[in-house]
Amino acid sequence: MRARTTKGIEIDFESSRFDSLRPRLKGALILPGEPAYDDSRAVWNAMIDRRPLAVVRCLGVADVVAAVLFAREHDLLLSIKGGGHNIAGLAVAEGALMLDLGLMRGVWVDAERRIARAQGGCLLGDVDRETQLHGLAAVLGFVSATGIAGLTLGGGFGYLTRRYGWTSDNVVAMEVVTAEGQVVRASSEENSDLFWGLRGGGGNFGVVTGIDYALYPVGPEIVGGVVAWPQSEAPRVLELYRRLAAEAPEELTLVTLMRPAPPAPWLPKEMHGQPIVAILACHTGPPEEAEKTLAAIKTFGQPVGDILVRRPYAQMQALLDATQPKGRRYYWKSEYLPEIAPELCAAAIAQAAKIRSPHSAVIFFQIAGALNRLAVEHSPVGNRDAQYVLNIAGAWERPEDDAAQIAWARDAWDELKRFSTGGNYVNFLTEDESPERVAAALGPGVNRLAEVKKQWDPENRFRVNRNIQPA
Ligand SMILES: Cc1cc2nc3c(=O)[nH]c(=O)nc-3n(C[C@H](O)[C@H](O)[C@H](O)COP(=O)(O)OP(=O)(O)OC[C@H]3O[C@@H](n4cnc5c(N)ncnc54)[C@H](O)[C@@H]3O)c2cc1C
Repeated sequence: MRARTTKGIEIDFESSRFDSLRPRLKGALILPGEPAYDDSRAVWNAMIDRRPLAVVRCLGVADVVAAVLFAREHDLLLSIKGGGHNIAGLAVAEGALMLDLGLMRGVWVDAERRIARAQGGCLLGDVDRETQLHGLAAVLGFVSATGIAGLTLGGGFGYLTRRYGWTSDNVVAMEVVTAEGQVVRASSEENSDLFWGLRGGGGNFGVVTGIDYALYPVGPEIVGGVVAWPQSEAPRVLELYRRLAAEAPEELTLVTLMRPAPPAPWLPKEMHGQPIVAILACHTGPPEEAEKTLAAIKTFGQPVGDILVRRPYAQMQALLDATQPKGRRYYWKSEYLPEIAPELCAAAIAQAAKIRSPHSAVIFFQIAGALNRLAVEHSPVGNRDAQYVLNIAGAWERPEDDAAQIAWARDAWDELKRFSTGGNYVNFLTEDESPERVAAALGPGVNRLAEVKKQWDPENRFRVNRNIQPA
């Protein structure tokens, strides 16, 4: 078998060497050619097609420790798969030993202390499902199949971000398997330097096997959903968005997107595939208040579809799932924005008009609020001047369309990046980003991250990520 060492050098690796690992595992060890291999190595973005040396499907922390130690003994490159949703495919590397945490999805809720403890392989929906039983929620993202680990380690934002900050601002503690195979806890009291680094520094410091989240009373019923208009209305709808978002209370998060209409049952058949502009809203305050605030959207112009209604919060958290299936080809460009300027709206409309795939979109996410009130040094996510996220989201089906679809996203980005704060979101970076873009995403905390890396992973064993070189 062909393997890669920690430093990426290709070597021969006798499969008999795995004989010492198998008895140390409770979960499965999957080798190339075995039926589960292709499923295990597949990630959300079908552009990523890498063949790991083997996959360990961890069933618990002891499996993670065994795999980390085995990789260490044999100097094998190691990758970690949480939810497998990273667009750059950072869960999987050619010739690496891949730790798949996808079977570690337990969630325990302490409703009294308002804390949820989630295992490192949980998806966002796993956490919402359990916390909503108690009318509580963690600050998570917009698509329920996304992994909590990758999202949280890179920052994380969603419908509760305006009220409570980045997902990582709302982590109480993490359990980590270190490069030496030790199980440690990181919080503001224990290993606080590691705790700081984990809240934005990605998978650089170890395998996160558990995350404790602060919970907040949310729902279970909220007002949320989407209203859509024909794209010809985009100038007026974006002006409405610009105005409403600027004055929206922090209970309300507004997202706007322009794309061809998906074949969703709430949109008339004749609109399917036709360009639309939509406002996605989620108000987690009292429903009566929410309805008053959201009337301005529901009564605007002549929508072609309106599903902005009272609904369970957990349903809202999965509303976009069908638009982001695993197995399509994806390429994104993103920037943080300081505001929604009228000139930005006009430029974004012009780029949306050039979309040539039924699945691509230009999106503004609103995130302004609590995250802006913390000091930049609070965590390595930085970018605390960000008010909105721009995502130019290319998505298509066929490999032969790669060049044209990537060109659309890159051209649109060339036109829109002038509106950026200068920062961008580390978790939205694609495979081909330049070191400058990665540096802009990581921000001024990078030197401190290098110090933390030196202490916790001086040999840089955790390098299949947005890698920080030890100081
Ligand atoms: C459809 C879609 C919707 C999204 N929506 C949002 C959103 O609303 N808000 C938002 O903030 N982001 C969002 N993202 C971005 C998301 O945060 C990143 O893609 C993130 O990397 C996903 O985490 P994962 O665990 O699924 O990733 P993976 O691909 O499994 O891993 C990504 C990286 O994290 C590391 N990692 C994963 N698990 C662990 C672990 N247990 N311990 C240590 N390191 C680990 C990996 O080594 C790798 O470097 C979205 C992405 C997609 C594809």
